[in-house]
Parts: sequence; C-alpha cells; structure tokens
Amino acid sequence: MKRICVYCGSKPGSRPEYLESAKNLGHALLARNIGLVYGGASVGLMGKIAVTMIENGGETIGVIPESLFDSEIVHPGLTELITVENMHQRKETMASLADGFIALPGGFGTLEEVFEAITWSQLKIHIKPIGLLNVCGYYDPLSAFIDHAVAQEFIKPKHQSLYTIHDDPDNLLDEMHETMKCISKQAEHKIVERALG
Ligand code: AMP
Repeated sequence: MKRICVYCGSKPGSRPEYLESAKNLGHALLARNIGLVYGGASVGLMGKIAVTMIENGGETIGVIPESLFDSEIVHPGLTELITVENMHQRKETMASLADGFIALPGGFGTLEEVFEAITWSQLKIHIKPIGLLNVCGYYDPLSAFIDHAVAQEFIKPKHQSLYTIHDDPDNLLDEMHETMKCISKQAEHKIVERALG
C-alpha cells in the first residue's frame, strides 16, 4: 500500500485519546512509508494526522472542494493540495489516489465517507481494503448496529468482511495488508482462469 485515505473528525472529540490516535496512525503510516490522502484541513483529528506526517517528512495529499476552501482551515504545509469542484469529486479523487481507507473517530462526514467506501466495495466499484480504527471503543455501537442490520437481513453476513476493525493502528494496517494480498491473489486467479478460457 503506497497511500491510505484517512477519514476522520474535523473536531478533536471529547477524549485526549482521539487526537492521540491520529498521531499514532500518522506514525504507523510513516514507519511503513505510506502516504496520507485526506480532506486537507488543519482542524481536529484531520489536522493532527497531517501535522504528524508533515513534521516527520511524510507525504500528505489534501483534497478539498472550492466551497470549503478557506486558508484558515486548509493545512499550509501539505505536499500537495488538490482543489476540486464539489464533494462528489472530492470523494472520487480521494478514493482514486489511495490503495486503502481508514476511518478514525469522526462525525457525519467521516461516517458518510467510510460508508461510501464500504458500499463501493460491496458493489465492486473498488477492491481496496477498508479499516476502522476503534479508539476507546468508539466504533462498538456502530458494529453492534451492523450486527443488527445483518440479523434483520439488510446486510449479507459475508459483507461484514468488507472492512476490518481494530483498536491498534499497526494491527489494523497488518490486517489490511493481508486483505490486499488476498484480493491480489483472487484477481490473479481470475486473470489466469480467463486466459485458460
Ligand atoms: P466530520 O467527521 O463530520 O468532522 O467530517 C470530517 C470528514 O468530512 C473528513 O474526513 C473530511 O473529508 C470532511 N470534512 C468535514 N469538515 C471539513 C473541513 N472543515 N475541512 C475539510 N474537510 C472536512
């Protein structure tokens, strides 16, 4: 994985562990030489992961719609800032630049972005790994809700494996890496099967 798209809160959240998790994920990406693709802001968890990456020489690509562009909010030290016309273009651009997606704790913006990544994976629009970093059990109620949606037969049980959930950034990245290897192997098999007719 060369670049990971990180969705996360534009707010710091109520507990210091949330900001700390953005820093920790930044360091885990740096240690693996993985670049960051994100929403471009300097606020909340978004700002924290960007600063961590910038201060340690990591690659940071911000993608921001013109309507949200505000020099006070956009992080000034990014490797690259891509300005797009609207939110749809932003999500498409972020997704196309990254080899996988991670959601840190966040609000509606984060939830919408990560659910779109999961939905696109379900529809096979992309086949990239997706991870939820479950800091202080933040995503436990969401996991419980998804179990409920599976029990009510609105989500297929097999689609729960479209994302990985972990409380440690290194373990999360390891699991996503394994998922990526499986996906590549499956794709290779399909190519061989097609070639053999
Ligand atoms: P939220 O979780 O509601 O705070 O929204 C955060 C997510 O939505 C991020 O992953 C961003 O891609 C996007 N976003 C929300 N607010 C902003 C902002 N002020 N600047 C840039 N991106 C934002």
